[in-house]
Amino acid sequence: MDSPHAAAIASILGDPSRVLTNRATVEQLSRDFYWYSPVLRKQLDGKVGDLVVQPASAAEVQKILRYCQGHDVPVTARGAGTGNYGQAVPLHGGVVLDLARMDRIEQITTDGVAVCEPGVRLGVLENEARKSGWELRCYPSTIIKASVGGFLGGGSGGIGSVANGNLRDYQTVRALEAVTMEAEPRIVLHEGEAVHDILHAWGTNGIVTRIWLALAPAVEWGQCAIAFDTFDAAFDFSERIAGDPAWIKRLVTPFEWPIPSFFTPVKRYAPQGKALVFFMVAESQRGKFEELARERGGEVTYSGAYLGLRTRPLLSDYTWNHTTLWAMRADEAYTYLQCAFDPATVREQMRKLKERFGREILFHMEFWKAGDGQMIPGAIPVVYYTTEERLNDMISFCRKIGVFVANPHVNNVENGGRYRPDNVQLLAKERYDPKGLLNPGKMVTFKPGELTR
Ligand code: FAD
Repeated sequence: MDSPHAAAIASILGDPSRVLTNRATVEQLSRDFYWYSPVLRKQLDGKVGDLVVQPASAAEVQKILRYCQGHDVPVTARGAGTGNYGQAVPLHGGVVLDLARMDRIEQITTDGVAVCEPGVRLGVLENEARKSGWELRCYPSTIIKASVGGFLGGGSGGIGSVANGNLRDYQTVRALEAVTMEAEPRIVLHEGEAVHDILHAWGTNGIVTRIWLALAPAVEWGQCAIAFDTFDAAFDFSERIAGDPAWIKRLVTPFEWPIPSFFTPVKRYAPQGKALVFFMVAESQRGKFEELARERGGEVTYSGAYLGLRTRPLLSDYTWNHTTLWAMRADEAYTYLQCAFDPATVREQMRKLKERFGREILFHMEFWKAGDGQMIPGAIPVVYYTTEERLNDMISFCRKIGVFVANPHVNNVENGGRYRPDNVQLLAKERYDPKGLLNPGKMVTFKPGELTR
C-alpha cells in the first residue's frame, strides 16, 4: 500500500519502523469486532486506512496531528481494536493512529488513582494495581487485550459495574489529557465533569494521551456457577444479590437456557435445560453465599477461589459481550442487543418480549449500579438474526415497552445510545477538530464550519 504521507510522517518521527504501510498489516489494524453485527458487517467490510502510525509519546501525537491537519489527512485512533461497533474502522482512509506503544503506567497513587498512557492494557493495569492493594472499578470482558484509551473512547462498563457503576459514573475517570486536531495541536486537560466531553466520543474530538483513573480497594474474589430450574428463579436470586450491599460482588450474570450450552469449555457446569448464573463474590463470603443459593433452589455446579486473570475456568470470559461471541460460535446467525430494563417492571417487560419474539431473544442479564445508585437490570440478550427489519422491529418494540436500547448495529456516536443530550461531545469536536478529520463520519451531527452553540 502506497501513501504519499508515509515518508513525511516517518521523517517527522525520525523512525520509519513506526510507520506501517504493508497492506495486510494496515487492513488488520483497520478492523475491530464490528462483524458482531450483521448490519455493520455489510456497511464496513473493506473499509481500510492508508497507513498505520505508532506514536510513542504525546509530543509525537501532536507532531503527527499537526501534519495531518495541514494536509487534510483523516486520523482514526486505535487501542486494541476490540470495539464492537466499528468505532475504530476508518471510513475515509488516512492514518490509523495505533496507540499501543504508549503503554506507560506512571503511578498508582496511595489514594487509588492510576495515572497512565492510553495504550496500557486493562489487564496489565489490573495486575499492577493489585500489587498496591487496588483493582479496576469496572472492566470489559476483553480486559486482557483492550486498552485503557479504547475503553474510554468506546467502552462503557463491565465486570465490577454491579458494585461501582459504569466508567462514566462516580468520577471513575478523574481527568484526562487529549491532543486536539487544530492547526497547532494543543494538549488539553479535562477534569471532573469536563471528562464527559471526550468520554465515549470514539476518538472523534481528541486523542487521549494521559488518563487519571480511580480504582477500588482490592478484594480477594471467589467465583461460582449456580444452576436454577427456571430463568425466573435465576433472575430472582440474581436481582436479590445485585441489590443487597451486604454481598461484596463483582459479577452477577444470569443466562437463559440454551445460552450456557454454548460455553464449550465450561459446559460441564451447565445442566441440560437449566438457567445458569455466574457470580464473582468475595472469597470470604463464598461459603455463606452458596448456602443461600441452595436455600433458594440453586445447585452450585462450580465453585472456587479466583486466582487472577489466568484462572481457569475464568467465568468472566463467558459474560458481558463474550456471551455473544460464544453464541456466534455455536450458530453464526446469533447477534445481540444492549438493553437496560426498568427495575420496577423488568419481569413484565421480559414477559412481553418473550410473548412477541419467543426464542428469537434469549436473556443474558448484566446488573449495574447507575449513577443515582439504582440497580439496573441491564441485558445483552442474544438475538437470532433473520433480517434487518426484524431486528429493527425488536428494537422498536423494546423502546415501546420502556426498555432502553443502546443500538450496537449503528456506526455513529449519536445513535449508539451513549451520546449526551447536552451535546458536549459535539461541542468539543467543534472546538478541537474544526476540519472534522478525527475519525470522520462517526459523529454525524458534526458539520464543519457550523457551530452548535
Ligand atoms: P478500540 O476498539 O481500539 O477503540 C475504541 C474506540 O476508542 C474507537 O473509536 C477508537 O477510535 C477510540 N480510541 C482508542 N484509543 C483512543 C485514544 N487514545 N483517544 C481517543 N480515542 C481513542 N465493552 C464494554 O464496555 N464492556 C464489555 O464488557 C465488553 N465486552 C466485550 C467482549 C467482546 C468479546 C468484545 C469483542 C468486545 C467487548 N467490549 C466491551 C467492547 C470493547 O472490548 C471494549 O469497549 C474495550 O474497552 C475497547 O478497547 P480497545 O482498546 O479495544 O478500543
